[in-house]
Amino acid sequence: MQKFNFHCHTNFGGIFDGKNTAEEMILSYENKGFETVGISNHCIYSKSFENLQKSSVMNFFDLEKLIDLHKRCFENIDKCASKHKIKVLKGLETDFFMSKDWRNAFEKIIKELNPDYIIGSTHFIRSKDEKFLYNLYHLNLLPSNTSQEELDDMVKNYWNNVIESVKSGYFTFIAHPDYCCQFNLAIGKEWDDLKHMFIEALNTNKTPCEINTKCIRLNGNPCPSWNMIKEMIKKEIPLLISDDAHRIEDTGAYFNETEDKLIEYGCRVRFDCL
Ligand SMILES: [Zn+2]
Ligand SMILES: [Zn+2]
Repeated sequence: MQKFNFHCHTNFGGIFDGKNTAEEMILSYENKGFETVGISNHCIYSKSFENLQKSSVMNFFDLEKLIDLHKRCFENIDKCASKHKIKVLKGLETDFFMSKDWRNAFEKIIKELNPDYIIGSTHFIRSKDEKFLYNLYHLNLLPSNTSQEELDDMVKNYWNNVIESVKSGYFTFIAHPDYCCQFNLAIGKEWDDLKHMFIEALNTNKTPCEINTKCIRLNGNPCPSWNMIKEMIKKEIPLLISDDAHRIEDTGAYFNETEDKLIEYGCRVRFDCL
């Protein structure tokens, strides 16, 4: 049984989207017998957010503000960790973008915060130039005259972003690569090529991938899908289970069931080295 979880969230600063404090989350994992927990609040930066209306408070275009928030968040995690036996790590769930500006910003974030690990995520479908970014949770913000072709294009750019995030070599592991499928995007056979290309990129770059159990809890299927997981197992891509918990009720959710499935599918290579 995997005794660690590297992907979960808190409500620090009233900004992040967790429902509980670091103290409450750490205690919850400790009580459930975990040996290590990594807290990984969102790290979302793009210049484009300056011009996008109705952007979430977690989307930053002011780099200094984002770094300051995470600095205080990390200090708080350290303070809570010192009161517990469980090993506590400080991570970031970082949205990848392809622009040069983002890369420069990312390098600065890492230098200033020095996190224990970095999760690579893509939560936005997008225009190629990244001027238009739509969080999968806020697809209702898409202009009502968006054509199917335009939408497909933005979903293609989503997948290219996921693939490039792997190739960047920046990330300790990749989170929920086919997250868009949970929102009924990219579910037909015509999307399989991009999914294969993603798995091939993991293979080439030796990048681990998580199996996100939050998606099992919400929709009955993990992220990535069991089909993608089976292909990853064949290629011996290191896998880890993440609950992506945003509240104490969800810590460790579906870990046992996912372990059983991984054994059933013959998974032998697991990521566990933090
Ligand atoms: Zn995420
Ligand atoms: Zn998350």
